[in-house]
Amino acid sequence: TYYTKAKFLTSAPDIRHLAEDDGIEVAFAGRSNAGKSSALNTLTRQRSLARTSKTPGRTQLINVFELDERRRLVDLPGYGFAQVPIEMKKKWQRSLGEYLQKRKNLKGIVVLMDIRHPFKDLDQDLIYWAVAAELPVLALLTKSDKLKSGKRKAQLMMAQEAALAFMGDVTVQTFSSLSKQGLPELETVLDKWLEI
Ligand code: GDP
Repeated sequence: TYYTKAKFLTSAPDIRHLAEDDGIEVAFAGRSNAGKSSALNTLTRQRSLARTSKTPGRTQLINVFELDERRRLVDLPGYGFAQVPIEMKKKWQRSLGEYLQKRKNLKGIVVLMDIRHPFKDLDQDLIYWAVAAELPVLALLTKSDKLKSGKRKAQLMMAQEAALAFMGDVTVQTFSSLSKQGLPELETVLDKWLEI
């Protein structure tokens, strides 16, 4: 698929450092440990394109992967580390809000959440900002292999119900990097956003 072409382009300490151009991008966000790196690696069929930085409180970088000259995937730092100082959290929230509001290149955001506990506070904040910025959101319920089919469907239906509350373009899908469940559906959404 198209996504195998992805290659590392650049890292930035802050969204302000990202160059703006006429290209288009899709961002990936989620609480740390939600399975974001695994999902990016699964999508691109690359074992270690996205790496996990599991050190709480350490400055994490935004990583940008290029698909072609005008299309990019943006890996935003994981949030929700309990140990991170409140000031750092606030700073990050501000810049994330700004990114969603102002980034002309951005065409959609994938919010990754563990299927067993979706829509935590910070996930909700992020989705509200995205909806306010009129950006489409794909809420990806990760690690779907952890649940049996009945429970998985129930979680999906519950999350779809919860997604209605955002009053925006928020779709919900289940996904597993382990079983590849939901991979074609993820690609279909990204294809649309990236005009592939
Ligand atoms: P990140 O912090 O959001 O980048 O999360 P990672 O991709 O590093 O994944 C966090 C943990 O969840 C790791 O131990 C992964 O092996 C595990 N994980 C990620 N995706 C899946 C999945 O689809 N199924 C299962 N069972 N475990 C997963």
